[in-house]
Amino acid sequence: MKKILFAIFAHPDDEAFGPSGTLLLESRAGTDLHLITLTAGENGMNPDNHDDLKSVRLDEWRAAGALLGATDMHYLGYVDGQLSNEDFLNIANDTEEVITSVVSRYDQPVVIELITNDLNGITGHIDHIVAARVACYVFYKLQRDGLPVQRIRLTCIPHSHMPEANIDFVYMEPGRTKDEIDEIIDARSVLDDVYAIMRCHNTQRADGEAHIKRRGENVAINHFIVQQ
Ligand SMILES: [Zn+2]
Repeated sequence: MKKILFAIFAHPDDEAFGPSGTLLLESRAGTDLHLITLTAGENGMNPDNHDDLKSVRLDEWRAAGALLGATDMHYLGYVDGQLSNEDFLNIANDTEEVITSVVSRYDQPVVIELITNDLNGITGHIDHIVAARVACYVFYKLQRDGLPVQRIRLTCIPHSHMPEANIDFVYMEPGRTKDEIDEIIDARSVLDDVYAIMRCHNTQRADGEAHIKRRGENVAINHFIVQQ
């Protein structure tokens, strides 16, 4: 049975810095991987003072997607840093349209899975929270409509990595406890590829290198809350 996996995130680097190891293992196992980014991350860090950070970041995202073996990539065109309740249903409609249009092209039976970030937004970034909540909304809506949507995985941080709340950026909750984590994927067999995927996001290298320095090979171990 063909599996189609939709990775739904707010910013171009979210999947690379999050579950890229899992996504790579999926694509290499024959899953058709579709990356959906809600924004171009155009209001992110710009250490090289690019005039058009939006197009630079979309190029970085496409390069990372190529390394991830993505079948296709879908940029929804919302404004980085400004996702909100007002956008919610529009983003959900756009996401649903991408999924139903992709799925309609298959003439064989398929299973569909979604992947996004923790509903707490991981770092607490409101854009991440909107992306996760949209992904869950679309998941339950498609399920209700009878599509073969099997599960949604929410990428989370384990408590052992993040034992306390952090307010260096906005409010970031402590990591999830063992009881809350349903699945752990160890993708250290593709660690070098994960590093390369993360490093595609050159403009966000301060974040990427900080992750790599802090977590080392654990960047390729992904933790998920699973809803079905
Ligand atoms: Zn982000």
